[in-house]
Amino acid sequence: MNISVKGYAAQSATSPLGLFHFVRREPRPEDVVIEILFAGVCHSDLHVARNDWGWSQYPIVPGHEIIGRVASVGEKVSRFKIGDLVGVGCLVDACRGCASCRKGWEQYCEKGATYTYGSKDRTDGTPTHGGYSEQIVVTQDFVLKLPSTLDPAGAAPLLCAGVTMWSPLKHWKVGPGSRVAIVGLGGLGHMGLKLAKALGAEVTLFSRSPGKEEDARRLGADQVVISNDKAQMKGVASRFDLIIDTVPYEHDVNPYLPTLATGGTLVLVGYLGPLQQTPANTGPLVVGRKAIAGSLIGGIPETQAMLDFCGEKGIAADIELIPMQQINEAYERMLKSDVKYRFVIDIATLKAEAEAGAPA
Ligand code: NAP
Ligand code: ZN
Ligand code: ZN
Repeated sequence: MNISVKGYAAQSATSPLGLFHFVRREPRPEDVVIEILFAGVCHSDLHVARNDWGWSQYPIVPGHEIIGRVASVGEKVSRFKIGDLVGVGCLVDACRGCASCRKGWEQYCEKGATYTYGSKDRTDGTPTHGGYSEQIVVTQDFVLKLPSTLDPAGAAPLLCAGVTMWSPLKHWKVGPGSRVAIVGLGGLGHMGLKLAKALGAEVTLFSRSPGKEEDARRLGADQVVISNDKAQMKGVASRFDLIIDTVPYEHDVNPYLPTLATGGTLVLVGYLGPLQQTPANTGPLVVGRKAIAGSLIGGIPETQAMLDFCGEKGIAADIELIPMQQINEAYERMLKSDVKYRFVIDIATLKAEAEAGAPA
């Protein structure tokens, strides 16, 4: 039987999110039905709700940083039982057979991964909807185990912000002796500071915002460099093995390239699109064997590894818990970089929402 749920959806690129009723698919034998407790608010949710990337199809229920409790399991589910605390990130399925999937890089599935929202289910073609909702139905292979040591609300942002930082840190082999810089102290950036520090690196924050220094140090930064201060930028010339740039909008990457050490890499995870206003100068790249790269979230095995690492080290996000009804204000505050450092929606407030016409 299909499952009727409430959620919050965007109905167009310009309309605020509001209450939306829809049905989840009938659970299949390998599916887990999850009662959602918390959903993190990622800047990507805002990009997709407002069609910043040009492919949004409405209605859209965003949310891909999901923590919940298993409500029921299909007969073929072996990895979970009713009552388990679990997570769901940006992916709910992939082809599972291509070269990327076989390596555990489902985010780079050559046939196109199925995203938690804004995709089509691989079996029945119905649109997928995300975590700003009461329940979700996910095949067990894309459900993550939540370590018992982690606070469920603080753990929600690990499912996207955490793994998006973890994947490049691991891919570029960050550890003791590495020098890492993170550009932008938002949801992704603050997880980048925490994870890079916990992996043993020397950590620097590049920020436009001078007021963030004390927080940055508390979160794991050894130093903070104000990115539009030329003297401070010169002071870190040729320093970093890896820079992870989380800035969501087009910006000039040229000031960062001279701060890479020989052989260093600047990884873009925020902005998607051409760098037209200030094209990247290949000079410092060629002369110093430096690279500009990109990276997309993380696959299922590395997401579980990141969660287990966070469980051992006691790492979770710094969050501001909000009721579902405040999501539109939260988006506006995120645009002003006014969040410390991730909004997380308490889904109990969605369940409790009184509905017009419903019996009291
Ligand atoms: P966020 O919380 O809004 O943080 C972004 C930070 O970037 C801000 O706090 C700000 O830091 C800085 N910033 C914002 N606008 C800027 C501008 N115009 N110029 C320079 N700096 C600016 O966003 P988020 O959730 O961390 O997401 C960041 C980006 O990553 C978004 O575009 C999101 O869609 C994308 N993302 C990508 C992946 C992936 O897999 N690649 C995964 C998740 C999210 P300061 O105030 O410190 O400068
Ligand atoms: Zn995200
Ligand atoms: Zn695949």
